[in-house]
Amino acid sequence: MTGIIDSLAIQNILNKADLIHSEREIQLALDDMAMNIHRHLNGKYPVCLVVMQGALVVAGQLLPRLNIPLEMDYIHTTRYRGATRGGELHWIKHPDITLKDRNVLIIEDILDEGLTLKAIVEYCKKAGALEVLTSVLVEKQLPSRPGLQQADFSALHVPNRYIFGYGMDYQEQLRHVPGIYAVNGL
Ligand code: 5GP
Repeated sequence: MTGIIDSLAIQNILNKADLIHSEREIQLALDDMAMNIHRHLNGKYPVCLVVMQGALVVAGQLLPRLNIPLEMDYIHTTRYRGATRGGELHWIKHPDITLKDRNVLIIEDILDEGLTLKAIVEYCKKAGALEVLTSVLVEKQLPSRPGLQQADFSALHVPNRYIFGYGMDYQEQLRHVPGIYAVNGL
């Protein structure tokens, strides 16, 4: 019974949310971002590190567009643990592939305060990566960030609100929604 009530509440969140970027806008922006990444990493046999869980959807759509030899692995970190405000960074999984002397592309869902990406970039550099590039599906518009200021590649911008869809969650729900939304009132 609780499951049914919860799913109705979640459906209500989706119904009331503001659509920020449609599926079509996202697809076009991913084409552009993939072209830029391709230009930079072609011939470098990069390691693409997918940051779980939020980047699952963007990675699944971006990697087939790159069309270059590459290796992929994933890392799992979280600052949010299902909440709507960030906290301390927790590492759930480190990469298995050796990063020493490799060109690394980190694939992340969203750049917010930039603390997650800053920590991941530092980890990759400490592991001996030759170059560490960051790519995000969306960059939140903030006047400044305590962490990484800007990603090397970003597909779209979003307002400073709580965002879900295309891999990003609202209370661990709605990651599969095919569009980018902002929660009403957040
Ligand atoms: P940062 O360290 O840049 O503040 O936060 C990055 C991580 O926090 C992202 O990988 C994502 O998991 C989560 N995050 C930040 N802002 C949002 C948001 O608006 N919506 C969702 N779903 N996750 C967010």
